[in-house]
Amino acid sequence: MARTGSDDRDDERTATIDIEAVRAKYREERDKRGGGRTYQFARGAFGHYARDPNAGPLEREPLTDEVDVAVVGAGIGGLLIGARLRESCDLERIRLIDAAGDVGGTWYWNRFPGVRCDVESYIYMPLLEELGTVPTEKYATGPEILAHLQAVARHYGLYRDALFQTSVTALHWDEAAGKWLVRTDRGDLFRARYVCMSIGLMHRPKLPSLPGLESFAGHSFHASRWDFAYTGGDSEGGLHKLRDKRVGVIGTGSTTVQIAPHLAEWSERLYVFQRTPAAVDVRGNRPTPPDWAADLAPGWQQRRMENFHALTSGLPQDEDLVRDRWTQTTAELAAAILPKADGPGDPRDMAAAAERADFLKMEELRDRIDGIIADPETAAALKPYFRLYCKRPCFHDGYLQTYNQPHVTLVDTQGKGVERLTRTGVVAGGTEYPVDCLVFATGYEHEFAVPYTSRAGYDIVGRDGLKLSEKWESGARTFHGLQVHGFPNCFILSKAQSGRHVNIAYMLNEQSKHLSYIVKSVEESGHRVVEASEAGEKEWVEEILRLATDSTDFLESCTPGLYNNEGKPGDLPALNSSYGGGSVEFVNILRRWREAGDLARLELR
Ligand code: NAP
Repeated sequence: MARTGSDDRDDERTATIDIEAVRAKYREERDKRGGGRTYQFARGAFGHYARDPNAGPLEREPLTDEVDVAVVGAGIGGLLIGARLRESCDLERIRLIDAAGDVGGTWYWNRFPGVRCDVESYIYMPLLEELGTVPTEKYATGPEILAHLQAVARHYGLYRDALFQTSVTALHWDEAAGKWLVRTDRGDLFRARYVCMSIGLMHRPKLPSLPGLESFAGHSFHASRWDFAYTGGDSEGGLHKLRDKRVGVIGTGSTTVQIAPHLAEWSERLYVFQRTPAAVDVRGNRPTPPDWAADLAPGWQQRRMENFHALTSGLPQDEDLVRDRWTQTTAELAAAILPKADGPGDPRDMAAAAERADFLKMEELRDRIDGIIADPETAAALKPYFRLYCKRPCFHDGYLQTYNQPHVTLVDTQGKGVERLTRTGVVAGGTEYPVDCLVFATGYEHEFAVPYTSRAGYDIVGRDGLKLSEKWESGARTFHGLQVHGFPNCFILSKAQSGRHVNIAYMLNEQSKHLSYIVKSVEESGHRVVEASEAGEKEWVEEILRLATDSTDFLESCTPGLYNNEGKPGDLPALNSSYGGGSVEFVNILRRWREAGDLARLELR
């Protein structure tokens, strides 16, 4: 790789970094919080925070019919499963089931003002070539993505058998019939030959555990259940009913980065309660040029997705098709640990070189804040002191500017979070901030920390009465992260023991293609049932454990949060790790397995 002037400047800066001082500063920030669980789920007494504000009343008769495939989850994963099965198999009845009132998953629920995908739409929005669609912007809005997902459902005939506003309550395998029995909260009890699950990584809202939450008398809601009836406006903004309102937001993750500029524009007063500052890089959105799609050759979306996948996995490519901060930053961090033409330089090992490159990147983001924020105290409070991937990086070109407005206050809780709520306000650092409306942008239950069946809301009872909750009591056990011994004709899409990558839609597509290949092979073989063999599952689990990169040291150095189990990374089951050889290799393993054509480690009967 050629050396540039900026490489030399970075080298000069690198030479002056006191890495021990950096580590001490990061530790100091981390230790402000203490760690431990500070949230609760939007369930029970707080269940109304998870209620759907978009769906109207629904009355229908319970179903007792039979379908070929039941797909739990009608988000991107469920739609891709349906689409790929339609393309490869002759299965008439594919039934998507979702608690939401339509398809779309996260894009159904998240309609907050400013909602956009921060992964490029040309690689994130699935099946663009199949539908002949070109997104209107490099980073599409939530409504555009939702409309596309609805078009996918129409294109592949997935609405016909779909059940919305319906939650699965139990799945039982009937060995004699070779079918699944599916129960729902609408009284349905129907059969399915195959069941597939793509329930999402984060779909149940999380709330802070705050004294006084139940007695707060103002209006409050979770950002993923935006109450436009109260705020006015829509996903594009225009929150005109907030003109005379004092608004508070708790949380400063990707969601708040997108909503804060809109709340600032429309509210009388805005308080943003920050526990840990976000690392916010340049977004650089732009409309799709009119001639953008003119030269695209067939297969362009898959190639673009693979190019992004490789680059963001740190694998150098001849060209960078996406050219954004995801690809550029990973390339910079990866280049730091490649041998340089003029010798290895100062770093003695790859870990130290990576740490220095990370520091330089974070300094760039901290410098960016100084360049935008007028008040030095606010600028200092907004600076993130942790390694880049301790938290999900954020991208926005208007979030930081919000804090230059006189009616907007950043309430820096010094890592402690909000203390409590009163009837009329939020208390932080001993001061009460009066608010009429409080928005919880405090994230979701995450698959890292919450057992699968608990997040799903139902158990799966396989062959011989084996429950998935029991089988996975100490962590996932799978073959290729997709099938489970003892659970025939069942496919689970998740990150556990599977590929983990920032473009979730890409990985779901690869898993869906793989799943469809297996179902097609079973159908063509004349068999009715397919199950991962005990040996296949055992080998894969051993491989997962062998490759589980011990990232505990890194995670322990991070401020407590989602990725490190609120400061307790050691408590996360190693069995729930993604494939440690990297997601590129994971996809290759699936591809090679399909190419071998022998359905190795599967039992058909
Ligand atoms: P999040 O990333 O989990 O952030 C939650 C925020 O709430 C954090 O700032 C967290 O502080 C804070 N918080 C949590 N519990 C708290 C408590 N008890 N007291 C005070 N603060 C508390 O949630 P999110 O912003 O909704 O984003 C969720 C995920 O959605 C992201 O990881 C991202 O993958 C995805 N997302 C993607 C896009 C996109 O464009 N693709 C857009 C929005 C969201 P700490 O940092 O201190 O824990």
